[in-house]
Amino acid sequence: MTTHRPSTETAPPDVDVLIIGAGLSGLYQLIRVRELGLSARVIERGSDVGGTWYWNRYPGARFDSESYSYGFSFSKELLEEWDWSEHFAPQPETLRYIGFVADKFDLRRDVLFNRLVRTAVWDEPGRRWVLTLDTGETMSARFLVTAIGALSVPTLPKIPGIGTFQGRACHTAEWPHEPVRFEGLRVAVIGTGATGVQTIQEVAKTAASLTVFQRTPNWCAPLHNRPITPEEQRTLKASYPDIFRRCRESVSGFIHNPDPRSALEVSPEEREAFWEQRYAEPGFGIWVGNFRDVLSNREANALMSDFVARKIRQRVKDPATAEKLIPKNHGFGTRRLPLETRYYEVYNQPNVTLVDLHETPIEAITPTGIRTTGRQFAFDMIIFATGFDALTGAYDQIDIRGTGGQRLKDQWKGGAKTFFGIQNAGFPNLLMVMGPMGALGNIPRSIEYNVEWVTGLLRHLRDHRLTRVEVRPEGVQAWMDVCRKASAGLLSNEVNSWMTGVNFNVEGKTERVLARYSGTGPDYRAKADAVAAGGYRELDLA
Ligand SMILES: Cc1cc2nc3c(=O)[nH]c(=O)nc-3n(C[C@H](O)[C@H](O)[C@H](O)COP(=O)(O)OP(=O)(O)OC[C@H]3O[C@@H](n4cnc5c(N)ncnc54)[C@H](O)[C@@H]3O)c2cc1C
Repeated sequence: MTTHRPSTETAPPDVDVLIIGAGLSGLYQLIRVRELGLSARVIERGSDVGGTWYWNRYPGARFDSESYSYGFSFSKELLEEWDWSEHFAPQPETLRYIGFVADKFDLRRDVLFNRLVRTAVWDEPGRRWVLTLDTGETMSARFLVTAIGALSVPTLPKIPGIGTFQGRACHTAEWPHEPVRFEGLRVAVIGTGATGVQTIQEVAKTAASLTVFQRTPNWCAPLHNRPITPEEQRTLKASYPDIFRRCRESVSGFIHNPDPRSALEVSPEEREAFWEQRYAEPGFGIWVGNFRDVLSNREANALMSDFVARKIRQRVKDPATAEKLIPKNHGFGTRRLPLETRYYEVYNQPNVTLVDLHETPIEAITPTGIRTTGRQFAFDMIIFATGFDALTGAYDQIDIRGTGGQRLKDQWKGGAKTFFGIQNAGFPNLLMVMGPMGALGNIPRSIEYNVEWVTGLLRHLRDHRLTRVEVRPEGVQAWMDVCRKASAGLLSNEVNSWMTGVNFNVEGKTERVLARYSGTGPDYRAKADAVAAGGYRELDLA
């Protein structure tokens, strides 16, 4: 085995804590680390703060979380000062919000922008992490916090000729900073996940023609977005404690919570009325606020899928197109549910064409467009809405070496194994925010908890003059058992998606694995709180 040993073994670390990533996770961690009186720097690939909302500037990008349930909850003053303009804010507003947070807490002075971390190597004698950046710089810290995002590494499809296209080609997550106009253009969108759906419904408004290349249709449901009125604004601000309490108590951090009834125990009329109501309401209620067994009971799920299929048939005029848009290989909600605004109606427009890649697969991208087995299409622009190397992608991109030079990537072969998504055995002083197998859901609610847990641990180490922390393998094993049990019986386990670790565009990600913690937020927090309350017995502290 190669040992990666930095040359300056006894050099003190440059700072106490290095944080990678200036999205919500990294910024909040910076705020908390500063409060501990520790020195810190954030390293960020982008040229400003924002993470997801810095990179994903594609047309139509916006929240599926209610805006007021997404923002940070830790500062009353911040909650008072910031007004969300829509129930589901668009990306430019969210990016402004994160910039506002950075200004308010004077965060940018500690962020090193335009730098990509390439390697992170544990220096055992020095008890520090040594990082090398794409700029050639080297930095070191006692503790390394990775806040690098679960959806931050875009992936492109493996299509022959992808580099030969002479028109404009953009991945949605690497969208240009200047406005892109579609008037008069023949545009192709590849991909119909949550991002594709948002992009398609926006581009269809102005493009001369829009051709959608669909491999797997997804079940979608209406977002029902609208502006927040001044009166609602006042009510919302007064209700923040209640909103965040609801998020804390709910299964997945949203304001929605499952109905305790089974879909099968109510009468067909009652069931139908309940689903009509959910379909007419804003947000993820139809997904995470459905009958308790819609995502686990095959019969309940089939009934729900049938309900949404009927909606699609009602909304899409051409029956053949409607059938193509109805998923046949997975049930409702077993993949990430895209929320939409007149998405299905787009296919009634004369300028929009749907190409079903199961009927006519793409053969190649050519200098002028896309060739399927059916025909050659000419385009001015191709938009890749082909998603991310989710959950572990950002980790795989950094050569992370722990004790004895072992690679994190090797340890995670066949699926990441972590302690609460925060620590890994063999990787001392590496603390993850939103790492694999942590709680997901309404992400900022998980971020705040995750950061506070990490901060609590750092405080404990500081107060006890400890400089090394490493989870024992048994701790990881125990958490993975919890994750395994939590996922038992979920229909989503039977479906290929990033939630089961599958992305056919990424090498080594073609098999389903246990890829995430799918238990509840309250359970996650209770168990993690117990670790802290018990004095971190699962961790070796020195
Ligand atoms: C289009 C889209 C819509 C979404 N909508 C919602 C929603 O409605 N509700 C919700 O809860 N969640 C949503 N999410 C999830 C979203 O990612 C989280 O809500 C949140 O923004 C994650 O913050 P983060 O700081 O953990 O990660 P990110 O925001 O991804 O930030 C990670 C940062 O790390 C940087 N980075 C990564 N690797 C390196 C490296 N090696 N060197 C230097 N820098 C690096 C990246 O450049 C990035 O800026 C959405 C995600 C996407 C992509």
